[in-house]
Amino acid sequence: MTVAEAVHKADIVIVGAGLLGLLSAWQLAASGRTVTLIERGRVGQEASWAGGGILSPLYPWRYDEAVSTLAHCSQSAYPGLAASLKDETGIDSQYNRCGLLILDAPDEGEAMAWGQRSKAAMESLGREQFAALEPNLSDSFQQGLWMPEVANIRNPVLLQALKASLIDNPLVRLIENCEMQGFSWAASKINGLETSTGRIECAKILISCGAWTAGLVEQLTVQVPIEPVKGQMLLIKAEPGLVRHIVLSEGRYVIPRNDGHVLVGSSIEKTGFEKSITEQAKRSLSDFAWHLIPRLRDYPIVKHWAGLRPSSPNGVPFIGAVPEHENVFINAGHFRNGLVMAPASAKLIVDLMLGVEPAINPQPYGLER
Ligand SMILES: Cc1cc2nc3c(=O)[nH]c(=O)nc-3n(C[C@H](O)[C@H](O)[C@H](O)COP(=O)(O)OP(=O)(O)OC[C@H]3O[C@@H](n4cnc5c(N)ncnc54)[C@H](O)[C@@H]3O)c2cc1C
Repeated sequence: MTVAEAVHKADIVIVGAGLLGLLSAWQLAASGRTVTLIERGRVGQEASWAGGGILSPLYPWRYDEAVSTLAHCSQSAYPGLAASLKDETGIDSQYNRCGLLILDAPDEGEAMAWGQRSKAAMESLGREQFAALEPNLSDSFQQGLWMPEVANIRNPVLLQALKASLIDNPLVRLIENCEMQGFSWAASKINGLETSTGRIECAKILISCGAWTAGLVEQLTVQVPIEPVKGQMLLIKAEPGLVRHIVLSEGRYVIPRNDGHVLVGSSIEKTGFEKSITEQAKRSLSDFAWHLIPRLRDYPIVKHWAGLRPSSPNGVPFIGAVPEHENVFINAGHFRNGLVMAPASAKLIVDLMLGVEPAINPQPYGLER
């Protein structure tokens, strides 16, 4: 049940209801634990809402092995996750294995070698072949890399499904408009949180506050270098079939939705914690989309928004307990790949919190790595 009043005692408290916090609550409740999830604003309105929903790193071969491991495990988990949330709530997150077409990658050799090593389906395509896949592409591209198994999900709908599931779960208490303001202490031990609606005493705390995480834990013994990196996106109201697959070129992409809308992403801007949208980014993203698929010029841009990615060194998230405060855990810093890494990342932190041997080696994600 969503409650407005302060909670004074809880077993596990999760701070931050983006995808990472929601999935961690969902998994903890699935293992029989009672959880309180607090969110400063409304559930799922920040990066997890703003993202494109591509369930793969954009150029997966360029990433640290630690990112690939979480992405790979999550990719296997997503179809089951979407199906069980649909069964539970009736909400369809529109998991869609639409495939990813990468154009004119300068490092195709490395890509193909990575594809073989990691057993990812990947094919090199000549112009005629990729034009057959995506007939409305402009003719200015020479080479394609086709990854047929890459999927997309409607992340805002996935967040709604998770919220609906958690609200109905008697083991979960979800409190919106409740901001963590600091830790509460008994001698040198952390025994709870100070929040905008009162004090919460609890045994374990998980901080999953995305781009805002570093500021919340700076009084502890560990520094997590997570910074906000703004990304702007556009939505074009086109027709079903005009764009058939996710298409990526020079770091930017278009994503088709089942209803014909096309997302265009994204800018990368270090402007602190502000989320303004700019005419300059709108022009640059629309020019990109029109250059890629000239027919998109005939359709209106109906939405423009920005979100703050939680950037971390090499995009490897921090997942683990805080040294010297073993009842405080962090799961944050997923940068550009938080949606694709989320299920495995939540599973890892939940295993660590419950003292279960994790399936993934936690060392590369540790806070003192
Ligand atoms: C434009 C854009 C496109 C993207 N595209 C993709 C993509 O296609 N694929 C992909 O895998 N990833 C993508 N990402 C990255 C992905 O969205 C993020 O990595 C991921 O959503 C991070 O999730 P999170 O739960 O850690 O953070 P968030 O979703 O930001 O959630 C953090 C939550 O913590 C809350 N919070 C903060 N401070 C407090 C406090 N003091 N007290 C209580 N609550 C607090 C916030 O209000 C927020 O709800 C994209 C990101 C952007 C911005």
